Amino acid sequence: MSDTKENKLVKCSFCGRDSSEVSSMVAGPDVYICDICIRTSVDILKNNLAAYSTKPDQSGTLTPEVIKKSLDEYVIGQERAKKVLSVAVYNHYKRVNSNASLFELDDVEIEKSNILLIGSTGVGKTLIAQTLAKILEVPFAIADATTLTEAGYVGDDVETVLVRLLQAADYNLEKAQKGIIYIDEIDKIARKSESVSITRDVSGEGVQQALLKILEGTVAGVPPKGGRKHPEQSLININTKNILFIVGGAFDGIEQIIATRINKNRMGFDTDIEDKKSLEKDDLIQLTQPEDLLSYGLIPELIGRIPVVAPLHELDAATLKNILTQPKNALIKQYKKLFMLEGVELEFDTAALDAMVQKALERKTGARALRSIVENVLLDVMYEIPMLDNVDRCLITEDTVKYGNEPVYIESDRKSA
Ligand code: ADP
Repeated sequence: MSDTKENKLVKCSFCGRDSSEVSSMVAGPDVYICDICIRTSVDILKNNLAAYSTKPDQSGTLTPEVIKKSLDEYVIGQERAKKVLSVAVYNHYKRVNSNASLFELDDVEIEKSNILLIGSTGVGKTLIAQTLAKILEVPFAIADATTLTEAGYVGDDVETVLVRLLQAADYNLEKAQKGIIYIDEIDKIARKSESVSITRDVSGEGVQQALLKILEGTVAGVPPKGGRKHPEQSLININTKNILFIVGGAFDGIEQIIATRINKNRMGFDTDIEDKKSLEKDDLIQLTQPEDLLSYGLIPELIGRIPVVAPLHELDAATLKNILTQPKNALIKQYKKLFMLEGVELEFDTAALDAMVQKALERKTGARALRSIVENVLLDVMYEIPMLDNVDRCLITEDTVKYGNEPVYIESDRKSA
């Protein structure tokens, strides 16, 4: 086989183009193939490989306990939510992987249980959803509800999320149809009576309706490479029946709705209003009921399709400190490894860790702030270290964190001798 650069005109044996119409023509014994046909063939092979890939995922084999233990390696705290999710996900895939006919026999159809995660920003909602997909080895896609629009409006229409899932599954339709989609900021598309817009439905009800359709199971025709649909384009039909949707939101203010409900119920038959003591926001959120979501502005049909509600907790100082050091890919572990590549052992004082946690608490963005805090603390150190060739260890102290003081550099005897 050789690249033919001869001047004589040869024709591609596959498409019939001649060498003047293409950039390259590869010659075999009595045959030619042009670069266009080679590229098309590679695409076909890739698609076939994806379609026939037989590697099974883990979704049908892991028990709730194994799922929870795997979650524990990455997600600190949130014990109740992790347990609820482990069971829900186990049940979901049991249903998906089960022999459908077995269930049709007795007329009992197990309905899909999508999941709602309620919790402030940075407490691990996305992390949990993402980690679940990783554990189960199923494709995963994320969307932000605020960027979604009903089909026809400018913005990502709801079906774009399905395209992303298909891409995450390497265009393997069968795998995509068993994937997990996380939709963040679902609370931001709650119905708000005061918002009026003539350009699009910012009240969110239209988007809720569009979401409802894919959550309850529909066959959606999506353009294979995303983008807008063209009439002449061939569409891929994705069935969303077995896709697990995890939706998340902070639901700011829902605690007041819950408190009002609880107090109202109590007043009916409990005259001892003394113990009406105001529960903390964190405690109240743990008591969320579907009716609270309704009052918040989610439409009842959507609530009905998300029967599993897992409230998350605010992260306290101790949990934030553990998040810094304990998960499999904890920030501190990552930076230690980075320094190790430089031949330096990186250490943090307990007080230094506490000071970073304190800074994170002040920002009120859960664990989200930790990365930039650590990055900031280490910036000067990372700038200097490559120039200090006799440093063995580097100890970050409370003063480094609080005032940007230089860390303690411990020099090696060997090198300085
Ligand atoms: P949310 O979706 O609730 O706003 P994320 O899951 O995106 O928050 O969390 C932001 C970052 O903070 C994550 O990438 C993760 O590193 C860290 N994080 C948040 N919560 C936890 C937790 N409970 N355990 C470990 N890491 C966490």
